[in-house]
Amino acid sequence: MQLTENQQYSIQGIDPAELINQYGSPLYVYDGSTIRRKVSELQHAFSGINMKIKYACKANTNLSVLRLMREIGVELDVVSPGELEMGKLAGYEANQITFTPSGVPFHEVKAAIEDGAIVNVDSIPLLEWFGQEYGSSKPCLIRIKPNVAAGGNAKIMTAHADSKFGISVLLLDEILEVVKKYDIKIIGLHQHTGSDIKDAEPFLKVADILFETAKHFPDLEIIDLGGGFKVSYMPGDSITDMELLGRTISERFKTFCQEYGRELQLWFEPGKFLVSESGLLLATTTVVKEDPARNFVHIDSGLNHLIRPMMYGSYHHILNLSNPEGELKTYNVVGYICETDTFASDRELPQVRKGDILGFLNAGAYGFSMSSNYNARLRPAEVLVDNGQAKLVRRRETLEDLLKTQTDL
Ligand SMILES: *Cc1c(COP(=O)(O)O)cnc(C)c1O
Repeated sequence: MQLTENQQYSIQGIDPAELINQYGSPLYVYDGSTIRRKVSELQHAFSGINMKIKYACKANTNLSVLRLMREIGVELDVVSPGELEMGKLAGYEANQITFTPSGVPFHEVKAAIEDGAIVNVDSIPLLEWFGQEYGSSKPCLIRIKPNVAAGGNAKIMTAHADSKFGISVLLLDEILEVVKKYDIKIIGLHQHTGSDIKDAEPFLKVADILFETAKHFPDLEIIDLGGGFKVSYMPGDSITDMELLGRTISERFKTFCQEYGRELQLWFEPGKFLVSESGLLLATTTVVKEDPARNFVHIDSGLNHLIRPMMYGSYHHILNLSNPEGELKTYNVVGYICETDTFASDRELPQVRKGDILGFLNAGAYGFSMSSNYNARLRPAEVLVDNGQAKLVRRRETLEDLLKTQTDL
């Protein structure tokens, strides 16, 4: 998304209004060049070590996005059998896919392993089962809960003591007992701290815990530090200095590898960092209500399409693409769902008129993938712009889609 000389926004030279004309409103649009840039930024920051990116695809599972990732050398982290299938459909070999479950039925883990994926074991009972089932015949990673609190807000922290994720580092003795009992081949230690982490410091803190834990596991090949890199949410936002973060973590990792006696791979599983900024949700203003208390801008979308503001109070910068140079006014931008459905409160926007197209930034991660049919609303289409070409990568839903699982029509 770029501002052109005449103050119009464009995606690789394409006017968003044209996309709305062609594909209808609302519409998700992804800019492939942003995804490519973010991937190379990360690769560059860690170029001094053996680093692998495992895209946490729950952020955006459109097959075209997955294929783009595959094309540029990014592997996958999945959290469900459905995501594993999508990864394979996008052309991934199962052995390029890591399955990081959270308390799932063991038959799902079994299916993923039989498929050839590698699993991040996230509980002692699962480890015990894994040992009984496979002994030393299949490798696995262990998801450690380091008891470190970090991240943008409480709902997106995943490694503090009260978090449900992973096996507490305090249970190390128990882990070792089970591993020894079944001679389980642990090839990696994993942790994922949370989301919207800006600085290297929380990563270093958990890395040190994993490095310390690693001393007890002689067969390691991988240290997986998870995802969670913060992205830019508005112009001028403070963001992760990826070069600095890469240098700092790489240095620490090299020292660890020397101590460990072998060169390991360092894995990351970013979701948001790779796709958030690539995405734009376009919607059309349906009504502008000049209420005595507030000016409300109503649009033809809602929390059924983008739930992040209502779910975690997340900020999405909004552009009035139809009137970028209008006089600034203050609005509450609200959705059409019959439920509190607020995208933004007291937001200054260039004057909004009925029919104006609004663009919601940072809609590439946890946008469509968290969408629903609440209020019997249809999900929008998705378009990927890559190499200067816009391509429809998911059609808009129809009433038939909405009804297809009902059995008593
Ligand atoms: C969701 C998730 C991620 C990605 O988190 P982001 O904040 O989107 O980078 C990484 N690893 C695991 C295990 C996850 O569940």
